[in-house]
Amino acid sequence: MTEANPALAFVDAHCHIDLFPRPAHIVEQAQSQRIYTIAVTNAPSVFEHTARLAVGSKYVRAALGLHPELAHSHGHELEQFRRHLLQTRYIGEVGLDYTTPDKDIRQEQRRILATIAGWVDESGDKVITLHSRRAAADVLDVLKGIRARKILHWFSGTNKELERAIIEGYFFSINGAMMQSAKGRAVAHQIPQDRALTETDGPFVKEGASPASPLAVKVTITRLAEMWRVPVEHAKETVLQNFRRVLVRNSSPAL
Ligand SMILES: [Zn+2]
Repeated sequence: MTEANPALAFVDAHCHIDLFPRPAHIVEQAQSQRIYTIAVTNAPSVFEHTARLAVGSKYVRAALGLHPELAHSHGHELEQFRRHLLQTRYIGEVGLDYTTPDKDIRQEQRRILATIAGWVDESGDKVITLHSRRAAADVLDVLKGIRARKILHWFSGTNKELERAIIEGYFFSINGAMMQSAKGRAVAHQIPQDRALTETDGPFVKEGASPASPLAVKVTITRLAEMWRVPVEHAKETVLQNFRRVLVRNSSPAL
């Protein structure tokens, strides 16, 4: 099995499969539609459950996470995080969220992200999907120099922060909610085509009235094609090529 599977059709670089009412059904959907899906988790204590869901799947990968909004309540799970580190190449959802004005909570978020970033750097070969709401500059600071393939999920920072992230080699995963808001589209427009990926952030993001399952990336591809003024097939291929670059291993062949 190779990660850069040539039969790969679509990419969902950030989906909370474990939070859907029928997660096994979502795994089957990703499998049958050949949608390579990074199944992020919000706490180390739920990683094993998601890892079990992904067992045997060619297209679904469980990611080990500690969501910044849970940093304060679940910081004690860091040791558990460390224990699971060797079980996956994928890390997320991790990051910072400064919608809280509480300085102590922000500080705790930074401490946890810095600890995780250190472990990621030791491995040198992880793929990390990052949350950076109102905190992009600090996320970039904490991750500075860390060896990993870095994906900023649902980026909503300033143009200056975006430019810096581009220079520092980040990829950006774009979802349906971004493409439906004027601000999100403005951000998406600034993202270079060769750094763009698709995601759903389901079930938090909705597609129509339902939670966005990995299938919703097809709609996002269509919207990206319109924005880029290219045929849909071209946009699809661009995102696949970008994702293949994310998956390339630093030293050894893809697993
Ligand atoms: Zn998320």
